[in-house]
Amino acid sequence: MSLQSPTRNPLKRMQCKIFGHTYSVLRHYQTDQKEYECTHCKKQFTEDEYGQLAPLTPKLRRINEVMEKFYIFKSARRQSA
Ligand SMILES: [Zn+2]
Repeated sequence: MSLQSPTRNPLKRMQCKIFGHTYSVLRHYQTDQKEYECTHCKKQFTEDEYGQLAPLTPKLRRINEVMEKFYIFKSARRQSA
């Protein structure tokens, strides 16, 4: 899994430093959690527990996936009850 593929174009990275990242939604979980990728530097981000964007680490992605599984499991139980 390559979470961060460093770009070879330093100009684009400079652009992020100056203007900030340009986020595009990479993945939208059923929990309403989202993962973003910067279209310029390809860095990936997710929302942390405070709703703030944090660099996406394998640990944070794992949490997102576990939370979604739990969410699906809960809503499946609610429907069958
Ligand atoms: Zn960027």
